[in-house]
Amino acid sequence: MIASSEIIEIRNNDQVKIGIGVSYKSILQQTTLRLLESNLCPDGPKYPLELTIADGLDGSGCHKIYNQFYGNPQFNTKNFILFAFKMLSIIDSDGNTFWSNQIPNSPFCVRPMALVAQKENKKNTKFLMDLMINPEVTNIEKDGLELPYGNVRVEILRTMFDGKMFGILSGAGGASCQLCTASFAELTDLELVRSGFPINRTITSAKEIFSIVDTKNYLLLPSKDRCGLTHEPISEIDIIPASPLHTYTCVFRWFMLLIYHIRSGTFKWWPTSRVIKESMKFTREFLCEKTGLRIDQPSSDGGTTSTGNMARQCFLNKNNLIYWVSTLISEDMREPINTLHSNLSVLLRIFNCDHAVDTDKLNSLCKDTYESILSNFPWANVTPSLHRLLAHSTELVRDCNGGFGLKNFSEEAVEACNKLIRRYREHLARKI
Ligand SMILES: [Zn+2]
Repeated sequence: MIASSEIIEIRNNDQVKIGIGVSYKSILQQTTLRLLESNLCPDGPKYPLELTIADGLDGSGCHKIYNQFYGNPQFNTKNFILFAFKMLSIIDSDGNTFWSNQIPNSPFCVRPMALVAQKENKKNTKFLMDLMINPEVTNIEKDGLELPYGNVRVEILRTMFDGKMFGILSGAGGASCQLCTASFAELTDLELVRSGFPINRTITSAKEIFSIVDTKNYLLLPSKDRCGLTHEPISEIDIIPASPLHTYTCVFRWFMLLIYHIRSGTFKWWPTSRVIKESMKFTREFLCEKTGLRIDQPSSDGGTTSTGNMARQCFLNKNNLIYWVSTLISEDMREPINTLHSNLSVLLRIFNCDHAVDTDKLNSLCKDTYESILSNFPWANVTPSLHRLLAHSTELVRDCNGGFGLKNFSEEAVEACNKLIRRYREHLARKI
């Protein structure tokens, strides 16, 4: 994990060892120091420095356990939770960027902080957050780091998590949208689409809503009245549920579901019906034969082949995918589908890039695409990920990331670590 004598064993309430970890402040201090020293002039920039990092958690399952230590039943699990952070930038007191991370989505720039052999659920996540993370985060943000060369102020962006972990951390597991308090029906309201959906969901507001009624009666309220909250937030600091990688994959799955519906002539959103499943089977076999892309098929690690890389290839129209898709659908649907594919492709690439973005043009493309979906496919559901892309991209880019694409907010780095953890666990490596 880290060459440090400060690695601690994490034990659950019954004092059974369930994982290992290091102090947040200590690993952050050590990483910053190494980074400054590796730039050969640790005392060169003007102090105090401003350090920005992104942190987050992710759970992974389907690990191979035949090489595990069976004496401890807590390790006889196929699941792991990883808490990690990545360094994003260091700015000196004159406002000059001293260092910035050029590969924020690489698993090799992730600093693991805690690794726990437990399932990703509310109880285990709360235990880990209360034990190791919440007590230190406030102090780190308030006091910063004290290095031999000077002080460093720290800004923590909590961005590296997926939709499931968002529900656990924010307590809003029943929400239609992770960023605003719109209800499911309001996601397809044309007037609201035109006027915009402001981001109004924060940890502070969730705690205020939660404190109004007592915990026992809370779940008796309709979901709308409690803004989709199902439990008190676990995170102490605000979280930014941009999830660029999952937005890519989820929007791609929605787009393919739309194709399956249109091909089968089913103009009612019914993704689990037999007709749609048959249409999916035919479409994926046809597209696999024509383009070589194995879309929506089971993968060897227990997931599906519709990963981030597959979504990127399909939205880049690899092997002329959209031409072959258009041969499967009726003529009147070809133009709307071609335009939708092209717009989503542009929007997803902007969402996942690290370039400066013209937010006025982005806003207008988002609204045009949202409205065209409601008018051309009024029977289709607008999923939370699609809504996040079309309704909240502009505000996320402009107000949360200084007008740049959201590549540095991506959860891809921590997701990519899961593959490494699986490999190390299977081959009994001791370091990550
Ligand atoms: Zn929203």
